[in-house]
Amino acid sequence: MAKKNDHTDHCILCGRTDAEVPFLLQGMDGFICSDCARLAAQYVDEIEKKGSASQAAPALGKAPKPQEIKDYLDQYVIGQDRAKKVLSVAVYNHYKRISHNLVDKPDDGVELEKSNILLVGPTGTGKTLLARTIAKMLDVPFTIVDATVLTEAGYVGEDVESILTRLLQVADFDLAKAERGIVFIDEIDKIARKSDNPSITRDVSGEGVQQAMLKLLEGSIVNVPPKGGRKHPEQEFIHVNTQNILFICGGAFEGIERHIALRKNTRIIGFNAEEKERIHTDNLLEYVDAMDLRSYGLIPEIVGRLPVITYLDQLDRDSLKRILTEPKNALLRQYQKLFEMDGMRLDVEPAVLDLIVDTSIQNKLGARGLRSICEKLMADAMFDAPSSRKKTFKLTLDYAKSKLEK
Ligand code: ADP
Repeated sequence: MAKKNDHTDHCILCGRTDAEVPFLLQGMDGFICSDCARLAAQYVDEIEKKGSASQAAPALGKAPKPQEIKDYLDQYVIGQDRAKKVLSVAVYNHYKRISHNLVDKPDDGVELEKSNILLVGPTGTGKTLLARTIAKMLDVPFTIVDATVLTEAGYVGEDVESILTRLLQVADFDLAKAERGIVFIDEIDKIARKSDNPSITRDVSGEGVQQAMLKLLEGSIVNVPPKGGRKHPEQEFIHVNTQNILFICGGAFEGIERHIALRKNTRIIGFNAEEKERIHTDNLLEYVDAMDLRSYGLIPEIVGRLPVITYLDQLDRDSLKRILTEPKNALLRQYQKLFEMDGMRLDVEPAVLDLIVDTSIQNKLGARGLRSICEKLMADAMFDAPSSRKKTFKLTLDYAKSKLEK
């Protein structure tokens, strides 16, 4: 409450009377002047800003340990143990790097370089799900981009810099926060060089994009248009340092097994015939390495910037069945929730799970097919549920078969 002239009251902070200040604010036991109140507010703002800056760069003590990260991933992603472990370590190291390079800044001349990650695995095996789940767990800005929409600057499509625009957007344009974020680049295999001869035609969505992407991956200052795109030529660039941004790339690399087999065979014949026995041919991806990626069409500089390479297994029958019921947000749990909201219990006969999985395998859809099959099975029941008085919907094998036959 503002106090008017009576020349006796004074500010308990600066001591000035109400004649010397714009006005006094009355408290329980005295007054504080408007100047001191304004200064105090600025001071509180500064302290809060400092606080959030240090949250953006978490102390190493607060970073989840690799085992904790993996345990969390286990709740949402079935199988893929190898990839989970590699990712957990990489993310933990990401925290370490930030803590070392940005917070502690020791004078020992050791600058920890980042290790971007490449996930190789068939489509629908959980690459995006892994990246999404990591993002959910961590308190750093995270964005997913599809490499197929990127083109070299000046051509139809999105510039590579748009990746950072999105990261800035999810970080609410807090530059310091964005510069510690994680980016998932999906379908990186689609920008592989189309032919072995780099100079036959201009390859604006392949090698050109790889070249453009290089400056992001290797860690440099990139000029980023805050509104993205090329429609706003007047906008001022934001200079984003990508040195501490972690890039996780994913791709199916269809047909890369041929390159792996070729390399493995040559080595086996050339050096050690016994090694042939030890190679499991059912998942050659296990052996994927930098050389295979190069022969697939990634330029050596990009391969060099993706030092952590790991693979995802093709999901077998058992894993697909587990995906239906086990993860925290498993498909069946989601449908159960939907029915529950209409006051109905969803009861699924165990044989129906096998039918769903078999149909998905037959259609060569893998995990991606499970949801659309479930939709087919449940659509009519979900239509009826809100206006029905029944308390249970029992999904029997016969009912399920009849729906799928349609
Ligand atoms: P990718 O990126 O490898 O092509 P996604 O991660 O997009 O595949 O997977 C597609 C969908 O399939 C996911 O949303 C998820 O529901 C399911 N899925 C795939 N793999 C797994 C897995 N290992 N565990 C649980 N669900 C999975």
